Amino acid sequence: MKYALVTGGSGGIGKAVCIKLASMGYHVLVHYHSNLKRAEEVVGEIKEKGGSAEMIQFDVTDGASVQKALTGWQDTHEGDYIEVLVNNAGITRDALMLWMEEKDWKAVIDTNLNSFYYVTQPLIKPMALKKYGRIVNVVSLSGLKGLPGQTNYAAAKAGVVGATKSLAQELGRKNITVNAVAPGYIRTEMTKDLDEKSLKRMVPANRFGTPEEVAAVVGFLASKEASYVNGDVIHVNGGLYS
Ligand code: NDP
Repeated sequence: MKYALVTGGSGGIGKAVCIKLASMGYHVLVHYHSNLKRAEEVVGEIKEKGGSAEMIQFDVTDGASVQKALTGWQDTHEGDYIEVLVNNAGITRDALMLWMEEKDWKAVIDTNLNSFYYVTQPLIKPMALKKYGRIVNVVSLSGLKGLPGQTNYAAAKAGVVGATKSLAQELGRKNITVNAVAPGYIRTEMTKDLDEKSLKRMVPANRFGTPEEVAAVVGFLASKEASYVNGDVIHVNGGLYS
């Protein structure tokens, strides 16, 4: 059995990524934080389609919680390892910097950036020992271009872009690739309050993207075919920015 972990598997993009990786033959660890029902649905949908999956719960902002869950999984899966990691869990707490409260700055940095350390660090050793691994980080257009109202989120995502490039250089010799996918506007819970009608006019594709369109690129980066793509960021934004 080959294992893949998708953080935020209970969210919009995460669900599509879980389904994509399951279709590629992975047993998927569908991670969730608070939305157990949604995680159960994702596992159910994968199984209905003939795939294989289980749930895993932790708070990505809490190093001890992550460690406990990952150690617990490893203890019950002796000899196995997670060969694909998709760091996808994330939040926004938008406000102009002038009005931004420290709690919103910290929550976004913890959830989108510090989580990268907590989840990735324990999983790279087994990948290095097995001499194979794929790490895909879901960043954002905001982390490359910057967006007003998102200094916290842009800083966190830009941090993950830098970490992606550095870790790729550390692990390349071990046959482990580390890449990022940078979505633009994608229809999920996160963007449900945005005015698609007016915002889509900025997008050459003239629409928001779907989670499946992001998952297709994550699936490619997670595949063996992407073996010579390393330390890169692929945009999935309908032509909005590159
Ligand atoms: P959703 O709001 O649909 O999903 C967010 C996911 O993150 C949920 O599964 C949620 O878990 C999880 N999560 C949030 N906080 C925590 C936490 N403290 N610990 C563990 N998990 C947590 O968002 P999307 O699917 O839209 O976003 C997925 C990724 O894509 C994010 O990193 C986001 O920044 C990025 N992105 C999204 C874009 C978009 O337009 N939608 C654009 C660019 C990037 P639960 O619900 O179980 O609590």
